[in-house]
Amino acid sequence: MKSLSAILNRINATYRLSAKNRTVPVIALIDAHQPSGPVALEGLIADHCLPGCPCGLHSNGTVQDFGRKLYEAQFQPKGQSILNNAPEGSLQDCVDWCYDLFVLKSLKGHNMEIRAIHMANQHLPHWMSVSKASEFQDFTFRIDILLHGRGKTSAIQVKPDSYRNVDPSIRAIDAAANRQFGNPVHYLYYDSDLEFYGANDIFARIADHHESAGSDPNNNASASSGGYASASSGGYASAGQK
Ligand SMILES: [Zn+2]
Repeated sequence: MKSLSAILNRINATYRLSAKNRTVPVIALIDAHQPSGPVALEGLIADHCLPGCPCGLHSNGTVQDFGRKLYEAQFQPKGQSILNNAPEGSLQDCVDWCYDLFVLKSLKGHNMEIRAIHMANQHLPHWMSVSKASEFQDFTFRIDILLHGRGKTSAIQVKPDSYRNVDPSIRAIDAAANRQFGNPVHYLYYDSDLEFYGANDIFARIADHHESAGSDPNNNASASSGGYASASSGGYASAGQK
């Protein structure tokens, strides 16, 4: 039997409840205000329900509000079919789940993104540029870090290794967004001890890809077919096809 957390995760994904335009662009909020911890971030989310902050970001509710929407979605037809006769989570369960997602996981994810950018700068050749993807690129293509060099572009998406076990339908949505990017997207994973793994291999492959001459699409494909992302042949986020 699936855990309540896994069930809520599926209901959340099915109804796209945590989509940024329905909730809050929380990573942008962290970038703009650098909260000192979870309490500060939860406060920022609440404060941005009202207009007026110079950062221009808007939240469509508090963590409590997001939890209530998730709670209600359990009673909708698709929610009921996902529950499949398991008992609904309480309102508090749903608020806790949203707190974990929007506050704790976002802080952790943001921190790992910063660390990944530092690491990319250290490991990639000096002629490559490393930058944080824009809010738009993150939202549209599901990429975190943008890489340029020798006329080529590629990207990195930073994920906890638990992502490998999320529902394939969720990963398929991400993979489709990655393909829209039209360039290779590499997945850089970290484990529960917040350590990246396989990073050296990924950076070596990225450097090879950018170094290889020309922009022959076959060359492009072969460079990324050995890619870390495609190696996890669940197929998510394999090479970008033009
Ligand atoms: Zn603000």
